Formats: sequence, C-alpha cells, structure tokens
Amino acid sequence: MANVYFKKVDSSTSLDEIRSISKELLDIVIKKENINLEKEIPLKVHFGEPGNITFIKPENYDGIIDYLEEKGIKTSFIETNVLYGGQRFKKELHLKTARRHGFTRVPVIIADGDHGELYDDIEINKKHFQKCKLGKEFSNYSQLIVIAHFKGHMLAGFGGAIKQLAMGHASKGGKLAMHMGIKPKINNRKCIKCGLCLKSCAEDAITIGEKSFIDHEKCVGCGACLAVCPSKAVTIMTLKGVSRFISGGSDFREKVVEYAYAAQKGKNNIYINYTMNITSGCDCIGKKMKILMDDIGIYVSTDPVAIDKACYDAVKEAGKKFRGSNTFNYAEEIGLGSAEYTLKDI
Ligand code: SF4
Ligand code: SF4
Repeated sequence: MANVYFKKVDSSTSLDEIRSISKELLDIVIKKENINLEKEIPLKVHFGEPGNITFIKPENYDGIIDYLEEKGIKTSFIETNVLYGGQRFKKELHLKTARRHGFTRVPVIIADGDHGELYDDIEINKKHFQKCKLGKEFSNYSQLIVIAHFKGHMLAGFGGAIKQLAMGHASKGGKLAMHMGIKPKINNRKCIKCGLCLKSCAEDAITIGEKSFIDHEKCVGCGACLAVCPSKAVTIMTLKGVSRFISGGSDFREKVVEYAYAAQKGKNNIYINYTMNITSGCDCIGKKMKILMDDIGIYVSTDPVAIDKACYDAVKEAGKKFRGSNTFNYAEEIGLGSAEYTLKDI
C-alpha cells in the first residue's frame, strides 16, 4: 500500500495557485515519506509536440523549481528523442521545441544523444526483456522528479507516471523494442485519403491511393499514423495476425511496464501527475485535442503505480474510463509498485 498525496484543482485554479500547490505537495511527500534529496535532481518532463496545446506548460512547474533552488539543489529538464517524425525527433529540433514551448528556466538535457542513439542497457530479466535500452544520461542520476500529464493514450490506454518512466526514458532502440509487433494497416472503406498519416510517417511506409496500404517492411510500429487519422481508418494488426481497432494490447502494455521497471531500478524517484487538460490522446500528437472533462488535481507519490491508479480511478469516477487497466496487474506482478493506495487529500 502506497501513499498518494493529492490536491484538487479545477478550471478556476490560477497559475499561481498551481505553482504553490505543486510546491506544497512536493514538500509534503518529501517530509512524510522521509525522502533524502540528492544534490542534483532532473525533472523528467514532456515538452509537447508543436501544434498540441494541452500539454502541461512549464510555468506550472515553477513551484517545484523554486523548492529545489531554495534547497540548493541543481535541476534541469530531461527528455529523450521520439521514435517517429515531428519536431522532437532529433536533439537539435527537440531543443528548439523545448525553447519554443517555454522550457527555458533550467538547462535542457536530451538523454539519448543527437538521434536517440546513446543508451545504457539496464538488466531486468523479465518476461519480454532481459535488458532495456534507456537514454544514457539517466545513468548519471540516482533521483529524478518524474512529472507526467495524466490523460489517455492511443496504445497504452492511459499515460501517466508509468509511461513517462518507460517511453519517456527509452532510447530510440528501446522505444522500437516496445512497439515491435504492433503494425497498423489501413481500412480502405474508412480512409478519406486526407494524407495526414503520410505526413506523420517518418519511415515513408504509407501509400495513399485507390488502395491505401502500409509497407510492414518499413513500418516501425510507432503509432503516429494511428494518432493522427481523423476517421479511425488506421487499425492495429499484431504480427500474430490478429487485427483489431485501436486497442493496444497487453503485450505492448507489459513491455511498457518492464521498461518502467528498468527506469526506476536503483532510483529514489518522486512522481508528480498533473491530472489536468485531460484528453484522449497524448502530448505527442501535434494538434488541438478536445478536453474530456474538468481538471481533477495534482498528485504526488513515491510509487508510479499507485499514483497512476489514483489518477485512473479519479478519471473513472468523473465519468471517463480509459483502457489499459491490465497495466496495473502486470506492474504489481513484476514489482514496479502497488496498485493499492491511500489517498491523502491535502
Ligand atoms: S506506418 Fe504508422 S506506425 Fe508505421 S512507421 Fe509509419 S507512422 Fe509509424
Ligand atoms: S489519416 Fe486516415 S483517413 Fe487520412 S489518409 Fe491516412 S488512413 Fe486515410
């Protein structure tokens, strides 16, 4: 059983209030959970793909940075390159995106090199992976504050701390390993030939025409085409030949959990989830998305499973059930954390 500290926010909560709530919650979790702080603690964040307007803006994190600075702790924003195209595909573009989105208060570290090529193998010996490829820079730190925007996710069902640990820490090869086995195809009856998937595919794997198709020799299974298709014409086909609409699948989720396990291994992390601007897709989607419900709150914990489960339950209580609840079972099974939690409403 893990403790999850929570404070409610809603659309009337001001930015100043969010800053001070973040700071207060961080102070509470550190004191109540007796956390020893390192001299340098990066903030694992997501810079948001250009075009996305619902990612959590960096001004919200000012209270966290103030807290660390007051304690004389050095900090930075840390992130990895994404697998597919867009403006976070390589370090140079990624740094530009970070600046453009206002992540300028502390230095930015891209943890996996210029193109996602730098990684360390972290041994875990689990069902899907013996070793996981994580951005090399993460090995320099024994503690991170892992900040996640809790919302839906095309493949995983939901995205929060677990996903921020897994996909957010993996080098390009690691991301590819998690996606392997997921190959989309195009349902020509639904395709309106808008070409959005074509533009999103960094592998040049898509042909749009009278009969649109995806070349599975080229496709790396990144899911970008799924994310952008406005008519749900892109469907997932696993290599086992099972075709189903955007459902992710337990293998993918188990792989994500194993990567999260690797990313947390040997670390004394703190997790903060902003359950605000709740959308059905993730911040990698470079377009405006509909907000599904009012903001819920800010959550802090030392357990990535407990914090995600608390957010998942709160979203469900508010009327929206995300897919991916089997993630929690496997996360508990391999010892990533506890899906049982005590919610401490501050
Ligand atoms: S076809 Fe879709 S899943 Fe495959 S590489 Fe291109 S964008 Fe990614
Ligand atoms: S994004 Fe969807 S509808 Fe548009 S061309 Fe691609 S498959 Fe067809």
